[in-house]
Amino acid sequence: MASVTYGASAGGAHLCTSLASHDDVQMSDERAEGKPVVSWLTDMDGVLVHEESPIPGASQFIQKLVESGQRFLVLTNNSMFTPRDLVARLHRSGLELPEEALWTSALATAQFLDEQRSGGSAFAIGEVGLTTALHEVGYVLTNRDPDYVVLGETRTYSFEAITRAIRLIDDGARFIATNPDATGPSREGALPATGAVAALITRATGVEPYFVGKPNPLMMRSALNRIEAHSETTVMIGDRMDTDIISGLEAGLRTVLVLTGLTVREQVGRYPYRATWVVDSIADVVDMVDSPD
Ligand SMILES: [Mg+2]
Repeated sequence: MASVTYGASAGGAHLCTSLASHDDVQMSDERAEGKPVVSWLTDMDGVLVHEESPIPGASQFIQKLVESGQRFLVLTNNSMFTPRDLVARLHRSGLELPEEALWTSALATAQFLDEQRSGGSAFAIGEVGLTTALHEVGYVLTNRDPDYVVLGETRTYSFEAITRAIRLIDDGARFIATNPDATGPSREGALPATGAVAALITRATGVEPYFVGKPNPLMMRSALNRIEAHSETTVMIGDRMDTDIISGLEAGLRTVLVLTGLTVREQVGRYPYRATWVVDSIADVVDMVDSPD
């Protein structure tokens, strides 16, 4: 490990942390520099929490953000839960966040549909996180001639609902899915996730869905819009090169890869794109957040 300090311009973020010593994970000063960082997007699972357990440094990071008054959002591709559910879950893990600080693939999907076809209708397969988000943008949920079939995460997929979705798509409904993840984590092992069920529907209909969640940079852009932030002054923090980092990069953000989640150090250099910074954990990012003057 080599200790490397990247100092941004006056008033900007300062990252003083240990970075991996081999060339393929060291970043040039040029990439780390840029406009001062004034807002933050961060992935949730693998960055702030593992399942229900907080990752050391997460609570200090959130506290620093709140104290500094910098704008931020916690992002998740999971569309099952409402922001209120997630705030309660994070509270149990010792992380205190307001509901407005959560941005889910369900919210991003609802916002996307609202922008694309305001006041439309959808047949939704998913849980309250998705159906609430669709209702809140004024969508009507129906199983008769909807504008869209919207697929999200659920643990109660029914053969009947999937059959209905397939027939509606056959009849011309547009196919949207909240996120492409094929599996999700659980203590007992992998769980089939939205991407796997989407593949089933695609196989039956020949129609591919439009996926809104990461790695679609739309998830980042909608998050930036939500907090009225700008890509050049925002950093995206994530634990996955192939979702968090690529979508942050494609949306024009600087990125931090933390090694507490899915991407391990040995894999970092294998990707054809780089994170701006690679750090051991969220604890290393706390000092990047500027304190109020
Ligand atoms: Mg993650």
